[in-house]
Amino acid sequence: MKNVSEFFGCKVFDDRVMKANLSAKIYQSLRKTIDEGAKLDISVANAVASAMKDWAVANGATHYTHWFQPLTGVTAEKHDSFISPSPDGGVIMEFSGKELIKGEPDASSFPSGGLRATFEARGYTAWDPTSYAFIKGKTLCIPTAFCSYGGEALDKKTPLLRSMEALNKQALRILRLFGNEDAKCVRTSVGPEQEYFLITQEMYEKRKDLQFTGRTLFGAKPPKGQEMDDHYFGVIKPRVAAYMEELNEELWKLGILAKTEHNEVAPAQHELAPIYTTTNIATDHNQLTMEIMQKVAAKNGLVCLLHEKPFAGVNGSGKHNNWSLATDKGVNLLSPGETPYENAQFLLFLCAVIKAVDDYQDLLRLSVATAGNDHRLGANEAPPAVVSIFLGDELNAVLEAIETDTPYEGMEKTQMKLGVNVLPKFNRDTTDRNRTSPFAFTGNKFEFRMLGSSNSIACANIMLNSAVAESLKIYADRLEKAEDFEETLHEMIRKTIKDHKHIIFNGNGYDETWIKEATEKRGLLNYRTTPDCMPHLLDNKNVKMLTSHKVFSEAELKSRCEIMLDNYCKTVLIEANTMIDMAKTEIAPAISAYVLELANTASTKKAVDESISCGYETELLKKLSGFEEQISIYAEELEEAVMNLQDIEDIETKAYGIRDRVLNKMSELRVVCDEAEKVTAKKYWPFPTYGELLFGVR
Ligand code: ADP
Ligand code: MG
Repeated sequence: MKNVSEFFGCKVFDDRVMKANLSAKIYQSLRKTIDEGAKLDISVANAVASAMKDWAVANGATHYTHWFQPLTGVTAEKHDSFISPSPDGGVIMEFSGKELIKGEPDASSFPSGGLRATFEARGYTAWDPTSYAFIKGKTLCIPTAFCSYGGEALDKKTPLLRSMEALNKQALRILRLFGNEDAKCVRTSVGPEQEYFLITQEMYEKRKDLQFTGRTLFGAKPPKGQEMDDHYFGVIKPRVAAYMEELNEELWKLGILAKTEHNEVAPAQHELAPIYTTTNIATDHNQLTMEIMQKVAAKNGLVCLLHEKPFAGVNGSGKHNNWSLATDKGVNLLSPGETPYENAQFLLFLCAVIKAVDDYQDLLRLSVATAGNDHRLGANEAPPAVVSIFLGDELNAVLEAIETDTPYEGMEKTQMKLGVNVLPKFNRDTTDRNRTSPFAFTGNKFEFRMLGSSNSIACANIMLNSAVAESLKIYADRLEKAEDFEETLHEMIRKTIKDHKHIIFNGNGYDETWIKEATEKRGLLNYRTTPDCMPHLLDNKNVKMLTSHKVFSEAELKSRCEIMLDNYCKTVLIEANTMIDMAKTEIAPAISAYVLELANTASTKKAVDESISCGYETELLKKLSGFEEQISIYAEELEEAVMNLQDIEDIETKAYGIRDRVLNKMSELRVVCDEAEKVTAKKYWPFPTYGELLFGVR
C-alpha cells in the first residue's frame, strides 16, 4: 500500500500547489479572495489560470470544465480542451483568466422553473475560488456557481454561499457583543455521513426498476432480512473491502477526507463518513463522493445504490449532516466553554439553533423532501417526518433550570443566572446514542439526520444556515440596544427556552405515541410527503426570512418550488410506468408460463392414471390465475391514474394527484405481484429476488 500522505490531494490544485506555482504577490491576492471574498483582478486571474493549466497538463489533463450543481440534483460539466491553434499548424495549450472566471454553457435544458424564460435564455457559470479545482479523468474541474443573466441562481451552490455569508454576518455581530474582536469570520462546517447499498452489476442489469428508478418496485420479503442485526458493524466481506479500499484511494487523491467506513444495519448496506470541513467544500466533496462511489463500483462489477429506499421492508439510506459553526480562529461556537462567560455565549448560540429549528421546521422538512426520501421518513428506521431536537439529559436540565430560575443539581445549588459568574462549567454530554432524533445535539455539533442518501446536502444547509442567521439577527438587534447586556441576555435565553421548548424531545422518535403527542399536544408540523411540505416554501414568513437575508429572491423561491414538485411528479411517474411495464411484460408472462406448466403436469398425471389427485397443481393454478387477473386489473387502473394526470398543468395539483391517486395504485399492484412471487417456481421468476440482491455480494 502506498503511503497516503504522499498521494493525498495529488489531483487537487490546493494551497500547497498554489504556493509552489504562483508568485508570492499573486498567491497573496488569491488567498485574500479565498479567505475574505476580495474581488479578483483580471491580471491575477490570468496568472492563476495559466498556473492551473500548466499543473493540470503536467498531470495528464487535456480538457477543462466549469463544474456546477444545477437543480437536477447531480453535477454538470461540459468539457473544453485547452488546445488553441498555433500559426505553424500545431497547437498550444491555453487557458485564460477569463475562461477561468466565467463560462457560458448552453444551459437551456437545465431546469429553471421558468426563471430563464422570464429573464434571459442563457446562463453563465462563475468560478468559486473557495473550493479548489481538481482533476477528474483527463479534465480539470473548476467548481463554479451557475446563474441566469439576470443574476438569478440556477444552482445549489449560489444560495449556499449566500446563506453562509448571512450566518457569518449575524454571528460576527454576536461575537462582537461578547467582546470578541479578533474573529474575522464565522463559518459552518459539515461532516456528512453517507449510506449506500452495493449489489452486483449482473443482478442490477436484470432489473428494469433498478435501472430506471434506482429502487426495486417489486420484491417479496426474503427469508432472511436484517432481523438478526448481524450486518451492522459486522465483518466486511472481501469484495466490499476491496471496493472500499479503492474508493478511499480515489477520494484521497481528490483531497476528500474519507475517514470511517462500516457496514450498516441492512444486508448489503454500508456507510462512509469524511472528516468535516467548511460547508461549501463539504457539499462539493459529497457530490464528488457519490459520483466516485458509483464509478468505483462499476469498475468492480458492482452497482452502488444511493436511493433512499432501494428495498421495501429493509432499512433505507440517509445522510447525517453533522453541522457546527466556528470562527476562523478555530473556536467551535457550539462547544460548551471553560468559563461562565463562554458558556453564556454557547447557550446563546444553542438557543439560536433551537429557535431556528422551531420557527422553520417546515423549511428544514422541505429541504430534504424528495419522492425517494418520502419512503424513509416516518418508516421504522429513519427519523419521523416531524422535526424535533434532542439535547441530552444534562443540557436539558441546564435549560430547565434557567427557564424556571431554579437551582441546577450539578451546580452547587446556585441560582442559574448568566453572566454573573455563577454558571459553572458543565460537561459536554457525549452519551448521545439517540438514533431516532431528526436533529440531535451531539456534544459540540448538531446532527441533522433527515437527509436522504441521494440528496445534495446544499438544500438542508441553506435552510439551516439561514434560519440560524435569522435567530442571531433578532438576538443581535436586541442586545446591541440593551441597557443591561447581561440582564437582557439572560431574559432572552429564558424566553427562547420558554417559547420553543416544545420542539425539544429526548425520547424515542419512532414511537407512535410521540407522533400523536408532537402533533396534537405540541402542535409540531407533520408533513409526510413532498407535496405536503413543498408549497410551504412560499409561505409568507419563509419568503420574508429568506429574502431579507438575501439567500433567495422571491422569483428564485417560486422557481425552486416548481422544480422540486416537478421533480417529484416525474420521479413517481417514471416509477409507475416502469411498474406497469414490468408487470405486463415480465411478471404476468412468467406467471402464465408457470400456470401452463402446472396445467400440463396435471393433465399428464391424469392421462397416466385418472385417479391421481392433482389437488396441489389445481389449487396453485387457481391461486396464480387469480393473481394474474388482479395484476391485469391493477396495472390497468394504475395506467389510467397516470393517464388522468397527464393533462394537469398546475404542478401543485398534479403532485397532489400523484400522492392521492397514483401511489396507492402502485402499492396495490406491488402487493399482488409480491404474493405471486412467493408461489411461482424460481426458474420462472423474471428477475433476481430480494434474497439474491441483498446477499449477492460476497
Ligand atoms: P458518530 O456520529 O458515528 O458518533 P462522530 O460524531 O465522530 O461519529 O462524527 C460523525 C461526523 O461528524 C464525521 O463526519 C465528523 O467529521 C463530523 N464532525 C465531528 N465534529 C464536527 C463538527 N464540529 N462540525 C461538523 N461536523 C463534525
Ligand atoms: Mg452519526
